[in-house]
Formats: sequence, C-alpha cells, structure tokens
Amino acid sequence: MSESEGPGFVAGLRESIGRLGSAWVARDPVNPAMIRHWCDAMQDHNPVYTDADAAARSIHGGIVAPPAMLMAWSMRGLEPPSDGPDNAEDPGSGVYRALDAAGFTSVVATNSEHDYLRYLRPGDELHSSQVVEDVSEEKKTGLGVGHFVTTRTEYRTQHGESVGRMLFRILKFKPGTGRMAQAGGEEAAARPMRPQPGISRDTAFFWEGLEAGQLRIQQCGACSVLHHPPMVRCPQCGNYDLGWVEASGRGTVYSHVEPVHPAFAAFDPPYVVGLVELEEGTRLLTNIVDIDPEAVRVGMPVELVIRRENSQGSLPLFRPARPARNEVNRARDAVAVGDELPPCPIPITTTLIVSTAIASRDYQDVHHDRDLAIERGSPDIFMNILTTSGLCARYVTDWAGPEAVIKRLSLQLGVPNYPNDTMTMSGSVRSSEAGRVEVDIRGYNRLGNHVTASVELELPPAAD
Ligand SMILES: [Zn+2]
Repeated sequence: MSESEGPGFVAGLRESIGRLGSAWVARDPVNPAMIRHWCDAMQDHNPVYTDADAAARSIHGGIVAPPAMLMAWSMRGLEPPSDGPDNAEDPGSGVYRALDAAGFTSVVATNSEHDYLRYLRPGDELHSSQVVEDVSEEKKTGLGVGHFVTTRTEYRTQHGESVGRMLFRILKFKPGTGRMAQAGGEEAAARPMRPQPGISRDTAFFWEGLEAGQLRIQQCGACSVLHHPPMVRCPQCGNYDLGWVEASGRGTVYSHVEPVHPAFAAFDPPYVVGLVELEEGTRLLTNIVDIDPEAVRVGMPVELVIRRENSQGSLPLFRPARPARNEVNRARDAVAVGDELPPCPIPITTTLIVSTAIASRDYQDVHHDRDLAIERGSPDIFMNILTTSGLCARYVTDWAGPEAVIKRLSLQLGVPNYPNDTMTMSGSVRSSEAGRVEVDIRGYNRLGNHVTASVELELPPAAD
C-alpha cells in the first residue's frame, strides 16, 4: 500500500482546512509597467488600463489594473522565497507539497471565482491571506488519479481595505494514470483522408491560388461578372475570356447546416457546411471552422482561413471574424436578456501561452516548457487559468465598452488550450437589471469547451 492509499493520508491533508495563513505582501505595488505587459500579452486594448488621459476622463478617474490581474499581483516569482517571519508559505502550498511527495506531481487548475470589490490602482499594495477550504478524497479523472484542493484568498490593500476575493480549485494528479493525454493523437492519426478535389484546366487557377495564399474568384473578361465554382464559359454573356480576381476573404454566413448522418470521419465531426457570401458578392460552399456548430448564425461575419487538411492540398475555410472592440459604452437599456455576444476567435499560439503565463507571473513549467509538460503527462504546454480569466474579461468588456466594470468572474475549465488551436469565445446575456448585467460565455477549441464562465458587470449610467 502506498503512502497515498493509507487511511490517514487525506485526513492529514485535511488538517490544514480552515487555518488562515499569514498575510503575504505582494512583491510590487500595482504599477503601470506590469499592467501594460499584461495588456500586451492578452491583446486587451481597453484604454482605461494603459492610456492615462482616457483613463482620467473615465469613471475611474485614472489608470486602473485589469480586474483579472488580481492574483497576478501576489504571485511569488520564479524562485519562491524561503520561509521566514515575513514570508511564511500559504497553507495551500503545504498541501501541494504533501501531494507532490505522494506522487501527485501534476497540477491543473479547474475552477476560479473572482469577486472584485473595486478595481486596483497604481500604488495599491496587496496583502493576501489564504485558507484551504477543502481537500477531496482520491478521485479518478480523465487526466489521472488525484485530489482536488480548494483555497480561498482574501485581498486587502496596505490600508486594510478589502478589494477582492478569490476561490481557486486545482487538481493534483499522478501523471500517466488518465486516459485523456494520449487519446487525441491516436484518433487524429486514424482519421481517413478527405476526398481529393477534382482539378481540371478550368479550375486549376483556384487551387493554385490557395497554395499561394489567395482565394481567387473567376471573373468574366467581358462583362466582369464573378462566378463560383469556375465555369468554362460566362453564364451571363457567353464569353470564353475568363480571368480571376483575388477575394478579400471577408464575408458573412448566408446559410449553414451541420451534417450528422451518415457520418464521414474524414470531415472530423462535428463540422459545419456553410454557404458564405463574400463581400465581392458571390457565394462559396465551404466549412465554418473554429466555432461550436451550435454558435454559427446566419449573417455572422466570417474570414478566410486557408488550411491544409490531412496533408492534402489547401482548402478555403471560414472562421468567425474577430469583432472590433466596442469603443463606446453600451447603454444600460440597450442590453436585453438573450442578446448574443459576437463570436470572437483567439488563435492559441505558443507565443500567446508563454507570454501570458509570464505576464501573469506564473512560472509553472507546463505553461512554457514543452519537454517538461510532456514528462508530466500532457501532450504539449497549455494555457494557464489566469490567462483564461484575462481573455474572458477582455471578451466581455470589448463587447460592453471600456467603462463596464466587472464585479464577478466565475469560471470552470474543461479541455486545455494547447498551441496551434483556436479558441472561439461566444456568449449571451443571462440577466440585465438596473445596469447590472450577467453574461454566460464559453471558449470552444477543437477538443471541446475550454472554459464556461459567468461574468457579472456594471454598465455605467448613460452620459448626460
Ligand atoms: Zn460575362
């Protein structure tokens, strides 16, 4: 019987439940440099965080820190300080260390709930104190056998003002004891090839264009009408003199369907067949990708993405176009229950994962070191939960306007965000009353839902 299976093991861990740790003083006061670094990495361009003039004119009266940074201010750094009278470790750290020693060496965050009592301003010095709220019995999960550990942290300023609270739940598990890490790769390898397109002398320009990164649409040399798919003769005027123009790649969904039966494994279900109306006016039959099929809407703006599928030729696919940031505050009475937020794709690159991990001062190796991530049972590095929080907050405020104030952000993580994927956010308004709005959102990648979250925010009163 291993140590972790002994009857006293969990009881020992649970002894720390409810004990309040000593306050940890953040290494740096809230400062514009770290705020800018965070906003750069998260691609959050809300001016109240970085533009002193715009922030001064806003309801904040000056620069504020993005609310989702709350935990980032009190991270302990690359080399955690040694214990001493001024920097005793959090009660949670003792539990994590005991789990490490028992073989539960891998870690993944699963839930967080942030309450923001007020936005932080440069000069605020955060004092945080933590309580272990729960340590679960041993659980079998897709990632492996492990224990969930829940902590609650209270944040105050140097003046004792309570400014935020956070509940945080992680899973500490034994690497290699789950089924999820390996499953994805095997399925992808077994997937049959898509049918090859039939390429003739009349259509070759189209396929050659894709290889060159262009979407080429046939155009009649005589009457200038566009047609797709390509033809041998202009259906409008009968001319044989046919050329092409390069399409911008922007369009909207004209109609769509999700084929379910019969199943074609080569298309990697679930998938969406869409008819896209290009801004040049002609329509193209394609797949709508990087979005939960249920979130596709007629009229949705989409953009071209050229991809090689199964190492065959390149295909013109379409994904939701990133919506522009709303620079005007959304009016309170303009928000209704059921309103949908526009889908927003976020390309998940190695750079995004690493730069956001560092901007949030999270130096866990699984967020930047591929070799170590694999050693710990993950197929690749993956996004940290603080980044997911930051991206959720950005998505909602980009929709609601720069002066919307987030009061609460509660999220649950599902499948990880690995590099070379796209997470597409979507959402809808759950409640709206007296300027207080609750929005349900989720981020979907090719493995499923990465995050489901609810965000409560206050919209500013209408300008005079
Ligand atoms: Zn013609």
